[in-house]
This record gives sequence, structure tokens and C-alpha cells, in this order.
Amino acid sequence: MNKLSVKYEPVIGLEVHAQTLTRSKIFCGCATEFGAPPNSQVCPICLGMPGVLPVLNRQVVALGIRMGIATHCTIAPYARFARKNYFYPDLPKGYQVSMFELPLAEHGYVEIASESAPEGEKKVRLTRIHMEEDAGKNLHDGADDASHVDLNRAGVPLLEIVSEPDLCSADEAVAYLKALRALLIYAGASDADMEKGNFRCDVNVSIRPVGESTLGTRSEVKNVNSFRYVQKAIDYECMRQEAILREGGTVLQETRLWDEKRGLTVSMRSKEEAHDYRYFPEPDLVPLKIDAAWIEKIRAELPEMPAEKKKRFMESYQIPAYDATILTSTAGLADFFETTVAAYANAKIVSNWIMGDLLRELNQEGKDIEDAAIRPEQLAAMLKMIEAGTISGKIAKTVFEVLYREGGNPEQIVKEKGLAQMSDESALVKLIDEVLASNPAELAGYRSGKKKLLGFFVGQVMKQSGGKANPGKVNALLIEKLG
Ligand code: ADP
Ligand code: MG
Ligand code: ZN
Repeated sequence: MNKLSVKYEPVIGLEVHAQTLTRSKIFCGCATEFGAPPNSQVCPICLGMPGVLPVLNRQVVALGIRMGIATHCTIAPYARFARKNYFYPDLPKGYQVSMFELPLAEHGYVEIASESAPEGEKKVRLTRIHMEEDAGKNLHDGADDASHVDLNRAGVPLLEIVSEPDLCSADEAVAYLKALRALLIYAGASDADMEKGNFRCDVNVSIRPVGESTLGTRSEVKNVNSFRYVQKAIDYECMRQEAILREGGTVLQETRLWDEKRGLTVSMRSKEEAHDYRYFPEPDLVPLKIDAAWIEKIRAELPEMPAEKKKRFMESYQIPAYDATILTSTAGLADFFETTVAAYANAKIVSNWIMGDLLRELNQEGKDIEDAAIRPEQLAAMLKMIEAGTISGKIAKTVFEVLYREGGNPEQIVKEKGLAQMSDESALVKLIDEVLASNPAELAGYRSGKKKLLGFFVGQVMKQSGGKANPGKVNALLIEKLG
């Protein structure tokens, strides 16, 4: 086959690390609060002192099970921690307590919207979810030109969520990460705050000729911490690997890093230099026997998950799948929608305002719905005013701006700012007469057959009224007047 005519497709598998929503660490009572002064949240256990013994935080297991259920995994009846041995200055014990051959949960899936999949939905399979402790952090940016180690993060609980290599584009990878992040938040397992590093991801990428079923050799880009970087790192890796294959070379299995400044990935270590972690069962912790009754109790406590919510929204509010996906992207947004619809029943109109004006404002400022001043009842009251003809759709945009920033009663805002729609005929006729009198050329043009000028007159009247004239009435009165 001619090498140049071969088309390649990406194959992507992701490993996500999510910090659990627990106030204390996984094997000791130290706090997990973000941003504390270096080494202020440490004790002999997380410092790795000799002779200390870890005690497992039960809540971490409960949150891991929650996430396992939310992703349709089988929860292991019997799981075990393992030591992963390696040396690094931020790892005082010389090993990380993780899980290896007996993880907490296995064989789940996450549903994503994908254009390439039939019916626009795709199930991305999960290999496993396991619990582990985070390492500390090396600091190289001090004024003293020295390196320091902050161990506040050592022993912070993580869920590692490993996907099968089921993703076939950067877009799908990002859709998967967003869906997984939403599940973590819905399940209350993690706040998945990317800025704090509570949700980060290792990106495994390979490419193969379209139609080929065996996988190509992967590279692994470590610790990518934003959706945009994931997208860029995947695109870059595909390009780099394709250039190698087209020249007849072989892709090396290696660990790489995303360099945002230069917009490329750089090699960290190759497979030959890879660690042999010498995993073995953690002797200081007993294996976990997970009670079926406990699993069922947790299952019963789980709130409605986004996929179910989406289905319910489509059925009971008769809104399109696209709307339902966006409206259920966070529990807060979904609640806002439902509360608004309870007060103003046209769900599609509510959805349009939330997806359009409200989300645009929120996204622009990088805010969540919880941070906005507007309340669902206020949006509903404004929509009723549009329906009653008290304000035009255009004026509503102005009212919405005020509500978004300050909240308040839309009727009062309209009154105070004099925004009510002008429907009074005598006032409108007066405006129309003024407009016709001051545009004699256009008036003559209209009379000689240029009927398109009607739009010009409507526009002028609207302008004169400061956008408040009722456009339907203006139109009708103008036609009457112009014969
Ligand atoms: P490791 O710890 O060595 O990275 P894991 O098995 O924990 O190995 O994780 C491997 C990740 O890489 C999984 O997400 C898997 O889906 C993905 N993966 C494995 N093989 C390939 C491949 N050929 N191309 C792309 N991704 C792959
Ligand atoms: Mg890996
Ligand atoms: Zn501690």
C-alpha cells in the first residue's frame, strides 16, 4: 500500500485522578484543605515516619463506591491496597499506597454524546476505579533559589478512573472528561475543581490505519489539567505520530509532558526507563470486604444522575436532546430550569433563555449558576411580562441584564427604568406622523411603489420610541396610514 494514501485514526484512553470530597486524608486525620501554608497539614503518618500505621478513611471508600455505581461498575466484594514502589523527593515513604490487582470497582461505562456514534450516543467503557494516596509537591519557585517539599498533599485521597481505549478523537476525549466530571460532582464524590488540581488526567494516544484492528504504540501525556490542553495535546500527538509513521519510523512507547508555552509535547522517559513498581499487597492494611448491604444503601442514597435527568427532561418537558444535555450538565442548572418552569410553564422558552442569555453571561465570567444574582422566580416573572405584551423581547434583554447582575422584581425594574412597551395608539400615531414628516423623500419613494420602505419606517418609529413601541401595532398603524 502507498504510505501516503493511508488514513490514520486516533485511539485514546484516559486515566483520571479525582480528589475525593473528604475533609481528612486517606490514612490519617490531617486536613485536606487547599492553599494552607506548606507542611501545616501533616503528621507522622503522612510524613512517612518509621513505625506508624495507616488507618483507612471509611468515607473515601463510600465515595469510591458512589462513583462506581454512578459509572455502572461492578463493585468488588473483596479489594486490596497495594504498594507502588518508587523514589521521588515528594514521596517520603518511598512507596505510594494504591490498588493493583484487586481494585475497588471494574467494568463500568460513561455515556457521552458523539457525532461519530450511531444515534449520537456512545458508551465509553471503564476498566477500573481504584483508591490511592496523592504524593506531596516539590516547590522550585522560592526566593532562595532552593527546592522545597510541601507534604500537605501527601496522603490526600484520590480516585483513579481508567478508561478503555474507546475514544477516537480529541472532541470525544473532552466530551468524556466533561461527562465524567459531571458524574463526580453529581455523585458528590469530588468537587473536581480543575484549578485546584482536584481533577487531572493522563492522556494515552496512539494512531492506526483506518480499518486496522490492532492498536498502535501509545504515548502517555502526564497530568494535563485543562480541557483545552487535553485537546491540544491529543491533536499534537496525532500529528507527531503520523509524521513518524509516514516516514517509515516506529512510535516509541514513552511518557511525555505537554508544554503549553511551546504548544508541543516533550519526552519525559521511554519504556526502557520506565519504573518497575514492584507492586505487592500493602501489609499494613487489611483487605476490604465490601458488604452487599452497604453497596445497596449507597445506591439508594445516590441522587438522580445526569443521564436519567436528561431522559426525564426530554419526556416531561418535551424539550430536544440538545437542550436536555446542556440543562442537566450541572445539578444547579437543572434545578434552576425546573424551578423556572414551575412558575412559567413554557419549557422551551425557559430553555432558550437559560441556554442563550444566561449561559452566555455565566460562561463569559467563568461563573456557576449559584454565583448569579438572578433567581428562577424572577426569570419566570419576566417571561410572563413578555407573554402579556408588557415588554418586547428586545426590552426583555435589558431587563434580563439587570436581573442577571442584581436580581430584583422585573415589574419594578420595568417601571423604574420606564421600559414598558408603548401600545397606546394615539401616542404611536403621533410618533408615526413625526417620522413620516421628517422623511419626505422616503415617503415619496414608498408612494411611488418602493413598498420595502415600510421596514425603514417601522425601524425609525422603533428608534424614536427607544425600542419601546409595540412593533406589531406600529406595523399595522403604518400600513393603515400609508394606505
Ligand atoms: P499504565 O499504568 O502503564 O499507564 P494502565 O493500564 O493503567 O497502564 O493505563 C493504560 C491506559 O492507556 C488506559 O486508559 C488504556 O485505555 C490506554 N491505552 C492502552 N493501550 C492504548 C493504545 N494502544 N492506545 C491508546 N490508549 C491506550
Ligand atoms: Mg498510565
Ligand atoms: Zn497526616
